[in-house]
Amino acid sequence: MAIAKRTFDVVVVGAGGSGMRAALHLAQAGLKVAVLSKVFPTRSHTVAAQGGIAASLGNVSEDNWHWHMYDTVKGSDYLGDQDAIEFMCRAAPEVVYELEHFGMPFDRLDSGKIYQRPFGGHMQDYGKNPVQRACAAADRTGHAMLHTLYQQNVKANTNFFVEWMALDLIRDEEGDVLGVTALEIETGEVMMFAARATLLATGGAGRIFHSSTNAFINTGDGLGMAARAGIPLEDMEFFQFHPTGVYGAGVLITEGVRGEGGYLVNKEGERFMPKYAPNAKDLASRDVVSRAMTIEINEGRGAGPHNDHVMLKLDHLGEDVIRQRLPGIREIALKFAHVDPAKSPIPVVPTAHYMMGGIPTNYHGQVVAPYKTGPDEVVRGLYAVGECACVSVHGANRLGCNSLLDLLVFGREAARQIIEDLKNNPHPKPLPSDAAERPLSRLSRLDHQRDGERVAEVGEAMRRTMQKHCGVFRFPELLKEGVDEIVAVSERASHTEIRDKSRVFNTARIEALELDNLIEVAKATMISAEARKESRGAHAREDYPERDDENWLRHSLFFSEGNRLDYKPVRLKPLSVDSFPLKARVY
Ligand SMILES: Cc1cc2nc3c(=O)[nH]c(=O)nc-3n(C[C@H](O)[C@H](O)[C@H](O)COP(=O)(O)OP(=O)(O)OC[C@H]3O[C@@H](n4cnc5c(N)ncnc54)[C@H](O)[C@@H]3O)c2cc1C
Repeated sequence: MAIAKRTFDVVVVGAGGSGMRAALHLAQAGLKVAVLSKVFPTRSHTVAAQGGIAASLGNVSEDNWHWHMYDTVKGSDYLGDQDAIEFMCRAAPEVVYELEHFGMPFDRLDSGKIYQRPFGGHMQDYGKNPVQRACAAADRTGHAMLHTLYQQNVKANTNFFVEWMALDLIRDEEGDVLGVTALEIETGEVMMFAARATLLATGGAGRIFHSSTNAFINTGDGLGMAARAGIPLEDMEFFQFHPTGVYGAGVLITEGVRGEGGYLVNKEGERFMPKYAPNAKDLASRDVVSRAMTIEINEGRGAGPHNDHVMLKLDHLGEDVIRQRLPGIREIALKFAHVDPAKSPIPVVPTAHYMMGGIPTNYHGQVVAPYKTGPDEVVRGLYAVGECACVSVHGANRLGCNSLLDLLVFGREAARQIIEDLKNNPHPKPLPSDAAERPLSRLSRLDHQRDGERVAEVGEAMRRTMQKHCGVFRFPELLKEGVDEIVAVSERASHTEIRDKSRVFNTARIEALELDNLIEVAKATMISAEARKESRGAHAREDYPERDDENWLRHSLFFSEGNRLDYKPVRLKPLSVDSFPLKARVY
């Protein structure tokens, strides 16, 4: 079958904050840029970010990038790479001001400066007192940011391919990445997008879990594409559970609520966080708060008829603060929990939220993965940014507001690096003759498989397995069974078929193709979690409750082929300052 081909300088897969920040820089440099997105750009999950962007502007309380860096290293439970963390925290004020100049409607202080609120794990003076570091636009910061970036891209003539789903990377014999294959969702047409640089910015994969704050489109496509092309996935055992998902619905209630003075109570009405984190209390980092909530529930102090959640109290903040700073939260509470937070507390539970792991990159956005010459090899032509990438700045646990920051800093930096690399690579390489073979054979399998598995049933089995076997606390037996189960589910996923082929819409195909990606992420998460015999950040094992720096201060690398694990050292040396010595993590 002849397949159409279009050629660009750069193809960006994903129109969230990271993809659009990169595309903007590339288009402004005069490159021909294609941005592919499964949904209209401003519907990407970045639009749902509520709380803010971290930057040490010091507009409300004294702050500097050293403190921000310390908090990030500590928050990561020392698994974050300190060169990348320094790079990000130093660049934070600049990328925020840049965004302000692009037209971002931040909230303002009376002085006219950008409003900043407290957030979990944001502290002054190397962990001493809470600081106001989160730059916010009410509780709709991601919405404001994504619209701002989209408008700037329209102005810069970025080419958007809306409702196109990238399927697979095109990689040649030498390991170079030469573009992607993609499917137009409306028509089912497959096309090759050839490019001298390919940037993956496909976001997270919260949909591997049953209960998640993530959008339905967050299916880890970039990770699936990378895994099928032989690239390992880094630190996949670290999945963040956000303390405050609405009970029963999973919709997120931002940590900004606790930043503005809200707090958690158990069924007795007792504020319990001071017991677990005497200093930071409800603003300890997310893994700490989620574990405290789970302990309260497990010890019988959960609220409701099943004692299976806790309550988030904010009525004492008063109508004015809620109306002005948290309008979206009030709306969510009314719609999904049927309570008015100005009058009664909101029922909440820890909910799968953010993937710390991802496609391994350096802090220039270049994908780094072993191929032929060695472990630290840069994959020519391939870059990754945003939640799908593991730089790693978040290590074992991400701090709130550091993701939007990561999108801006590394989106821009990857674009800068691409411009640099393309100078040495002025001509596109010819595509290999089998460039579209993998996606075409996947599509053909879906259409021709007989007596295969149903996509919805296999997806459900995957989500249940992940939820039960790989949650806030991890138990040895459950993990072992979880590995067997997820390997079995992934075997089933390779026999999915689309029923009633005469009447299918492409959406059924899309769901099946997304499942191929989800299952790669789920497998990587479960197998990496079973193997890591310590507790660090979001990975809390019942049988190994302590962090073990001697044996486990290292990043995991999961290879899909053979379900094999390898490890690489953490980069403890920052760029210009001394590294932060390892310490026990208390809040
Ligand atoms: C509810 C919620 C609230 C949050 N609040 C905050 C916050 O206040 N502060 C903060 O720092 N972080 C927050 N986060 C985290 C942060 O918002 C995300 O990590 C971040 O927005 C991800 O951005 P991204 O650019 O990586 O991807 P996304 O914004 O998820 O965009 C992914 C893009 O990839 C496209 N895509 C995916 N697969 C394909 C494919 N196969 N083909 C073509 N296109 C594809 C999608 O269409 C989309 O355009 C929040 C997350 C959630 C879920």
